Amino acid sequence: MTETKYIFVTGGVVSSLGKGIVSASLGKLLQARGYNVTIQKFDPYINIDPGTLNPYEHGECYVTVDGHEADLDLGHYERFLNIPTTRANNITTGRIYQNVINKERKGDYLGKTVQVVPHITDEIKRNVKLLGSKNQFDFVITEIGGTVGDIESLPFIESVRQLRWELGQNALCVHLTYVPYIAAAKEVKTKPTQHSVKQLQELGIQPDVLVLRTERMLSNEIRRKVALFCNVAESAVVQSVDASTIYEVPLMLQQQGMDSIVLRKMGMEVGETPEMKPWREFLDKKSNAKDSVRIALVGKYVELQDAYKSISESLMHAATYNNHKLDLRYVHSEKVTAENVASLLDGMDGVVIAPGFGQRGVEGKFIALKYCRENNLPTFGICLGMQSMVIEYARDVLGLKDANSTEMNVKTPYKVIDLMEEQKSVTNLGGSMRLGSYDCKLFKNSLAYEAYGKELIQERHRHRFEFNNEYREQFEENGMRCVGINPETGLVEVVEVPSLKWYVGVQFHPEYNSTVLKPNPIFMSFMKAAIDNKKG
Ligand code: GLN
Repeated sequence: MTETKYIFVTGGVVSSLGKGIVSASLGKLLQARGYNVTIQKFDPYINIDPGTLNPYEHGECYVTVDGHEADLDLGHYERFLNIPTTRANNITTGRIYQNVINKERKGDYLGKTVQVVPHITDEIKRNVKLLGSKNQFDFVITEIGGTVGDIESLPFIESVRQLRWELGQNALCVHLTYVPYIAAAKEVKTKPTQHSVKQLQELGIQPDVLVLRTERMLSNEIRRKVALFCNVAESAVVQSVDASTIYEVPLMLQQQGMDSIVLRKMGMEVGETPEMKPWREFLDKKSNAKDSVRIALVGKYVELQDAYKSISESLMHAATYNNHKLDLRYVHSEKVTAENVASLLDGMDGVVIAPGFGQRGVEGKFIALKYCRENNLPTFGICLGMQSMVIEYARDVLGLKDANSTEMNVKTPYKVIDLMEEQKSVTNLGGSMRLGSYDCKLFKNSLAYEAYGKELIQERHRHRFEFNNEYREQFEENGMRCVGINPETGLVEVVEVPSLKWYVGVQFHPEYNSTVLKPNPIFMSFMKAAIDNKKG
């Protein structure tokens, strides 16, 4: 193998332009050419990881196989590339500083003054090269969070400048900017792009490729103008116009030859343009589906749909592979009452009860679950959703009045969901949950076993509380079976009510493990049940 190539993706003008999608799309195109690609994200905030952030701040917290709580862009990377990410794929300013400060305390800097340049920038560069140095990747794509010009991202930008200097042709910079349409003038405007490129140039970086985010198709004239003002070849100015699905972006970029531009600039052979057949087949399936399946997602962060990004994507993958369009309705769990639940869930083909933390909105989940159970709706509980299934069942079927999780009520008379011994002494909330991939043994004659088609599976976790095994027998005797168990600890990972059509709760998060080319089996099974239910 030749040396690893490094591609940096920066963003200008405004945030939320979809740097993650552009990075994932470019990664996909290079991967389709047979290269090993990984994508990494640097986040300029001080938190060590996003695990302690509430979803209103940065949307969903994603979890890697090795148990790192990560930015949701890693979810896009995995869904596009179909390869797992790890702790090395998401690094914050907080972690960079923590590493440097730890080294300083150990005396590693031998009496030197520790400074942003070179010590912080060296640590950033070390983390970029770490992924390449194992020589397992042909391309490392590094997405720099934030917008160029932010105070916070300066050390990252400075590190990119140094790396470009050190690596020569083995490094390349893609800059994503915005070209707004001014309705009153009936014109698109390139000035914000010009300014943001200038800002990048002032920081010592000349972008090689520009990706212009736009709501309307841009003319060649506009691209020529941007090229002229920004010192970029006209062919290297590509546009990313609003698409009906993010999964179209790789094809849009391929059509403009973005991957070949990158290869050429890095002195690599271009070769034939890959067909991307399975990818196109997925998109065809998605656009050709005529019928839709209506799913309710009951959770408390419904105002902010990024909070459930991986769940909505997993549902969409599963609906597509079942030849249906996904009609997803968000139901605010705080607003569900015994009086309105029927009207809220009426006409749904299936219901998902979302993960979450804390008391707020949880009673609404219980009400929704009672309705689903009594009306035999396909119902899928994920993490807190599974715990809620257990609690509602305990209260209503087992007759354990006020049963609860000790997360919600430490004084509950029936702790059907409780903290494990090792969690009781935890005082630091960061990174201390049961995190990452764990084995789960599925029992035959269960929906879960049928879905996965095997006994031993691995799924990712992110929770502190667990099903309390002291109640297991009582649940089993009353029709709720524990059908998935952690083989090492005996912890319950999956529950089902076999007398109902499809009533399954999983303690893990299968949504972190569903990709465009490999939908998650348990989501597929739920979706099939919802579609069958709809057909009556
Ligand atoms: N709050 C619950 C726990 O900590 C569930 C967490 C979740 O849904 N991710 O166990």
